[in-house]
Amino acid sequence: MQLEFKNEPFTNFRLPENKQAYQEALNKVESELGREYDLIIGGEHIKTDKKSKSINPSNKEQVVGIVSQADEALAEKAIQVAAKTFESWKAVPGVERSRYLYKAAAIMRRRKHEFSAWLTKEAGKSWPEADADTAEAIDFMEYYARQMDKLDQRHELTRIEGEDNELYYVPLGVGIVIPPWNFPLAIMVGMTTAALVAGNTVVLKPASTTPVIAAKFMEILKDAGVPDGVVNFLPGSGGAIGDYLVEHPLTRFISFTGSRDVGLRINELAAKPRKGQKWIKRLVAEMGGKDSIIVDNDCDLEAAAQAIVNSAFGFSGQKCSACSRAIVHQDVYDQVVSRVTELTKQLTVGDVVNPEFYTGPVVDEKAYNKILEYIEIGKQEGKLLAGGEKGPETGYFIKPTVFADVDPEARIMQEEIFGPVVAFTKAKDFDHALEIGNNTEYGLTGSVFSRNRAHLEKARAEFHVGNLYFNRKCTGALVGVHPFGGFNMSGTDSKAGGPDYLLLFTQAKAVSELL
Ligand code: NAP
Repeated sequence: MQLEFKNEPFTNFRLPENKQAYQEALNKVESELGREYDLIIGGEHIKTDKKSKSINPSNKEQVVGIVSQADEALAEKAIQVAAKTFESWKAVPGVERSRYLYKAAAIMRRRKHEFSAWLTKEAGKSWPEADADTAEAIDFMEYYARQMDKLDQRHELTRIEGEDNELYYVPLGVGIVIPPWNFPLAIMVGMTTAALVAGNTVVLKPASTTPVIAAKFMEILKDAGVPDGVVNFLPGSGGAIGDYLVEHPLTRFISFTGSRDVGLRINELAAKPRKGQKWIKRLVAEMGGKDSIIVDNDCDLEAAAQAIVNSAFGFSGQKCSACSRAIVHQDVYDQVVSRVTELTKQLTVGDVVNPEFYTGPVVDEKAYNKILEYIEIGKQEGKLLAGGEKGPETGYFIKPTVFADVDPEARIMQEEIFGPVVAFTKAKDFDHALEIGNNTEYGLTGSVFSRNRAHLEKARAEFHVGNLYFNRKCTGALVGVHPFGGFNMSGTDSKAGGPDYLLLFTQAKAVSELL
């Protein structure tokens, strides 16, 4: 019998021994910076002439790793190898496949701080944010392994006289896994391991800003004994090889997490059958968010203000679940705005190798320029109360920014900024607040602070988001506890880390035998 699933605990960095262990991990990673990473197809390491540099966003001069880049010919090779390997991997019993995940989770747990330190260097995550990312990666493996163990058991069907009937969940085939850079370990690991434990083979195209952490994960799969060709590592630009992977007739499914625009493009390309293709491709797409915290007039205002700050500025707002809209009842609007401004001004921004900084940089120059542009737009659309400027120029630092008195239809209220910017708008009453909460094309997370039971029940029924929270922040979903996925343009609502997720990577087969 498997042990019950429990979330990996977060590290308490107030304890000197944990602080020291993390510092040692950072030193180890520091000594390994600038190394080269290859493609891995069918276990074969492949170097290419074309390389891409992964840069530390806290320190633009620092090269984290140099990574070979796939072209279409190598994408073809990866798909062919994955298709061939599928023929043997699909026959491995589910409970056996899940053992690889238990093993991989155990290895990652032993190397936990090292993985988090890579996240600090490559993605600019503060110590606690990096620690949470690694913990979530471990959780995904432990959780999906248990889900596979369950899925592999005989399923209850109505019995009829004279027949034996069974339902099996069989794998789909070759999956293209395309993760984002913002949870470069957790989401990448979750998407990859769910697909493989369900019996599929994978072509993993990591995000171009964070390929080194994915290469490190490939080491773990190797150590855990996952057979060659089950996961094929294919770093390369989405623009250069994305369409080829998605359109390929041997691609059976695409598991994507990223922006709305790229997700919609994949959806369109995947829908069109190609010569030799025998199936309708399945797409699991988790996309952007424009998430709100609603503050009612009778709630704990201090808790609401803390939650807004936490959800808006943790990891510099680069979470799909981040609060970028605060919708506050007019009776308490001034109080909440002023407290959030005060708390925001206390936040520190800098190179996150130093644990004293609350948050680090944004991930790269493209994100930096885009967020600064939105800040300029915000200055036209609202009243700037905090931040609104760059931090030290050694990295891509932007100060946590608060805008007040923004119209609900304004651009900074509607478009995903994906940076440390929160906009406030005033609601006449609770119904008006809910109406504003639902007025974007997204529907990922949302949170309501209220002590009014009728209002909470109304929000439960009408606030149209995949993950709704009451009287708490809207970030920090835990595997197994808060199955995660969004409505509308936020995606296909896959509910990662939930009991139905693995089914997305299988198809059910019913077998009836006359007795
Ligand atoms: P992105 O630009 O859409 O990129 C995501 C992935 O898609 C990357 O691996 C990227 O590769 C790849 N890609 C780019 N163009 C492609 C194409 N034409 N075909 C196939 N793949 C392509 O998103 P991002 O900036 O990495 O991540 C931030 C976004 O992800 C935000 O919108 C955020 O809300 C969303 N997100 C959503 C969730 C969720 O659960 N809903 C979770 C996390 C993040 P390259 O890096 O090589 O361009």
